[in-house]
Amino acid sequence: MDYNYLAELLFPDVTMTEQELEEKFPPRILKEGSIVSRMAPSPTGFVHLGNLVQGLTSERLCHQSNGILFLRVEDTDQKREVAGAVDVLINTLKHYNINFDEGATVDGDSGNYGPYRQRQRKDIYHVYAKRLVREGKAYPCFCTEEELAKNHEQQEALKENFGYYGKWAIWRDRSIEDIETQLKLGMPWVLRFRSNGSIDNKIKFTDCIKGNLELTENDIDHVLLKSDGIPTYHFAHAVDDHLMRTTHVVRGDEWLSTLPFHIQLFTALGFKVPKYLHIGPLMKMDGDSKRKLSKRKDPELALTFYKQEGYPAESLYEYILTVLNSNYEDWRRMNPDAPTDDFKFSFKKMNPAGSLFDEAKLNDVSKNVISRMTSDKVYELSSEWAREYDPELYDEMTADPSYTKAIFSIGRGGKKPRKDLSVWKDVRGYIDFFFDNLFEIKDAYPDRFDKNDIKSTLSEFLKTFDVADDSGVWFEKIKDIADMLGFASDMKAYRENPEAYRGNVSDISMFIRIAITGKENSPDMYSVMQILGYDRVAQRINNMINSL
Ligand code: GLU
Repeated sequence: MDYNYLAELLFPDVTMTEQELEEKFPPRILKEGSIVSRMAPSPTGFVHLGNLVQGLTSERLCHQSNGILFLRVEDTDQKREVAGAVDVLINTLKHYNINFDEGATVDGDSGNYGPYRQRQRKDIYHVYAKRLVREGKAYPCFCTEEELAKNHEQQEALKENFGYYGKWAIWRDRSIEDIETQLKLGMPWVLRFRSNGSIDNKIKFTDCIKGNLELTENDIDHVLLKSDGIPTYHFAHAVDDHLMRTTHVVRGDEWLSTLPFHIQLFTALGFKVPKYLHIGPLMKMDGDSKRKLSKRKDPELALTFYKQEGYPAESLYEYILTVLNSNYEDWRRMNPDAPTDDFKFSFKKMNPAGSLFDEAKLNDVSKNVISRMTSDKVYELSSEWAREYDPELYDEMTADPSYTKAIFSIGRGGKKPRKDLSVWKDVRGYIDFFFDNLFEIKDAYPDRFDKNDIKSTLSEFLKTFDVADDSGVWFEKIKDIADMLGFASDMKAYRENPEAYRGNVSDISMFIRIAITGKENSPDMYSVMQILGYDRVAQRINNMINSL
């Protein structure tokens, strides 16, 4: 077979040369050890936790090594594409602090190694497709859907492996005459790789995360170009990662099964095989066993879930670091206030089997993250969330920003900050009683107390309450009420002889607390009253007295 002739026949319009491409996209001049990697998502409109895990891993490796991270849009599957998906993707990643040095942006491409959208690279792929044909490493296949289905049926009946290989590869060794006849008839064709592998052979490969692997060689003549001339993922990623000078490919381990083919492809093209990091799946506990997070069953796989619930981006980011690098949590304990970028991220610490996603743990991490924020930041982020998801709360909390910020500043700062909030959805239940329109009595007084004691406590408290008191004086006054009503003001004395008292000072505080906050639990009462001010406190106490 005259492969040159075949190559001209199939790709008459290819004018660029490989050499031109090599010169246009030269090796990058970077410091030794700098990592060049990419995110290469398909624009399906669904951005999920897996994207973030992969993005964060690539981002850390690139930026920690003074390398380059770029975004390539893998839009070769037009059927799955959703309008506006690229912008959603870029904005979502940005929200989670994944920023690109080059690649597709909302305003088109930026960088010298583009275009960064695969459909715009058709001519480039054809240069390499033509070369593979010229070297006898690829051939056109005119099989119809029906023929492929028939192959499949027969393979099933004969219990043979499925796929287009060996004797099932109908067009692999067809004559040039047969090919020309089909072309003249205008029959559609795909370009297939001519595999010289055998499933009886194993290849050895070292993955950066999975370690040493022994994989079965690929014997399938996979499709490189579809009938519209658009490449498959396999072919496109080989050409792109070569020309974009990717040093490390970070991707999900669902690609591991086609890795032997990819290695064959890089080799056939004369490209250096990049380093691969295949990330294990995200799993969750389902009863007693682990299973992969599923798009259908688990809303928490979609990143929109975290936005709706009101997880700050920092929380999810920090949680993923915790899950991906086993030493992150210890580092955070030692460096409570350091920026996450100071942590030395390493793929060696990643679990080859994947990571267990645990919502309770995420909430815990998020509580810590929020507890370290300033009240201004909590105000800013939570009101932004409320604007979209709780407009009533938004109106209340933004009517007087300094009032709301004062609320958030209770117990903030210092060595042991309060940890009341893990998501912005929690804000309403935490601050609602500060706003008259949202205030309601949620907890009733326990039956064991005498209503007269409660009433007396409230009226005595109001008699002497002065917002100008410092917290010491304020508490002394509460203790005085306890003594006056036969409740122990000294907890030690109470514990030694509880029978001698009607209760203790914490009961007295609770009487006041429920009247003012409507709840048995609340942040520090002294601070609460300072923020509410005299009038609101007095009004609530009086309302409670009248209702008892
Ligand atoms: N488009 C592929 C995906 O979304 C990219 C895999 C890769 O990063 O190479 O899974």
